[in-house]
Amino acid sequence: MSKLEADVVVVAGGAAGLAAAVAAAQQGAKVIVFEKGATTGGTGNMGMGPLGIESRHTRLKQFRPSKDEAFEVFMNYTHWRVDAKLVRAYLNKSGDTIHWLEDLGVEFVEPASYFPTAYPTWHLVKPGTGGRPGPMSSATMMKVLTDRAKEMGVRILLQTPARKVLKTGDRVTGVVAEDRAGETIEAHAKAVIIATGGFGDNPEMIKKFTGYEYGKDIFSFRIPGLEGDGIRMAWEAGAARTDMNMEIIYGMPDVMAIGPELHEACRQPHLLVNLLGERFMNEAVLPNTTFTGNAISIQKERCAFLIFDEEIKKKMEAGFDFLSVVFPFMRIADFDKAIHDAQDKGYAHLFVADSIEELAGKTGIDPHGLRKTVEEYNKSCEGGYDDLFNKEHRYLRPIKSPKFYAARHLPSAYGSVGGIKINHRTEVLGKDWKKIPGLYAAGVDACSIYGDSYVFVLPGNTMGFSLNTGRMAGENAAEYIKDV
Ligand SMILES: Cc1cc2nc3c(=O)[nH]c(=O)nc-3n(C[C@H](O)[C@H](O)[C@H](O)COP(=O)(O)OP(=O)(O)OC[C@H]3O[C@@H](n4cnc5c(N)ncnc54)[C@H](O)[C@@H]3O)c2cc1C
Repeated sequence: MSKLEADVVVVAGGAAGLAAAVAAAQQGAKVIVFEKGATTGGTGNMGMGPLGIESRHTRLKQFRPSKDEAFEVFMNYTHWRVDAKLVRAYLNKSGDTIHWLEDLGVEFVEPASYFPTAYPTWHLVKPGTGGRPGPMSSATMMKVLTDRAKEMGVRILLQTPARKVLKTGDRVTGVVAEDRAGETIEAHAKAVIIATGGFGDNPEMIKKFTGYEYGKDIFSFRIPGLEGDGIRMAWEAGAARTDMNMEIIYGMPDVMAIGPELHEACRQPHLLVNLLGERFMNEAVLPNTTFTGNAISIQKERCAFLIFDEEIKKKMEAGFDFLSVVFPFMRIADFDKAIHDAQDKGYAHLFVADSIEELAGKTGIDPHGLRKTVEEYNKSCEGGYDDLFNKEHRYLRPIKSPKFYAARHLPSAYGSVGGIKINHRTEVLGKDWKKIPGLYAAGVDACSIYGDSYVFVLPGNTMGFSLNTGRMAGENAAEYIKDV
């Protein structure tokens, strides 16, 4: 067994952990980061950027919301069933954190929104490789944070998972970790910050704490190593539990097999039905992936089918109704080729048929229900008014011309949220709601501010929460150790 000494130990080197390490080092603390993976960044490498409210970018564009408006939106959305002081602290800091990241060397382009009814709070990271922001642009930000941490003397130990929080009395005094050779390391520190990114790679925890079954009724991102380690360690150290959820979105299973262009085509606002063949939502809401994921989650077998016909297919080859900020496609160039390529790979979630009955047979949708819904929907299209859900007129296109197509959608998720109870200073609270001295948590391990649904109307929210709570934890831990 080897022994290490630090002021602050950070368990792990993802978005929250790196922000925590840099912030603590900036306050003069000696910091060690234990990271389970072979690289830093965690899920922070996957996305496009964090939320920022009243950053210099949003101010220049006079983009809303202000801090006060964002707080009101957030609290109305969550019905005040979340920690208002934590929400306020996070939102108020978020604009300054954009400037802090810029001072460290991160570059952002103009803020974006994720879908038309969301606010433009999403600060997209300019990729280090050049070009426009896209999937994994935020890896550039993780690299900048890693480089700055190392320059400030932060010691980052890769492939060295932390296993246990050490305590003397009620006070936290370090962690036990395991190096890549399997040897035990005991690291003593005055403060420990936990930020291990949730349990998105742990199907047992997903089932136990959220009710979804990975691979059956949820096809969420599984970032390797996110197994709930930090949550378990904090609970063992006496931390109170919070509600735990998946950060729900929706999509077609195994989307990598069909590629993003076809996937975007299959998320346009056509006819969406469940296994009974019935509509259950206004399809104009589809770009709000959280709302759609929620609506699909309460259908039979938690699945839904987007139905369209040959005429609609041609329309999508001319142009999409909804454009994505993540992917640059304005239309699908050759739908038939895309679908043949998918079928050649044995892709099982896209269906083509010559009649509505045949489509029902192939998908397992109730044939009478589907026939009835198509007839009613076509009448709404002819009449120009959707009296069921008031879907906008411009999206009402009848399903009449063979061939007929169906794309199966299921709930998905970016990962998990929640587990460790913290206060608005990111201090971990015990079951008696008293602070556990020296223990802090940040990022999705401690993200219980969304209530039942991800607050996607303010995009960039999870990376925003992770970076901001990480930064807060680093600053507060550095302050705390001065008096210990
Ligand atoms: C495809 C995709 C795109 C996304 N895009 C965006 C976006 O644009 N904007 C946004 O706001 N959010 C986005 N998100 C979500 C966001 O990236 C995450 O919520 C955020 O990175 C979580 O930060 P974190 O620090 O809590 O966890 P992570 O960044 O995942 O870091 C957790 C780290 O903990 C390490 N770890 C685990 N166990 C241990 C252990 N025992 N010891 C040591 N280390 C351990 C892991 O290896 C990992 O490095 C996206 C997510 C996905 C999947």
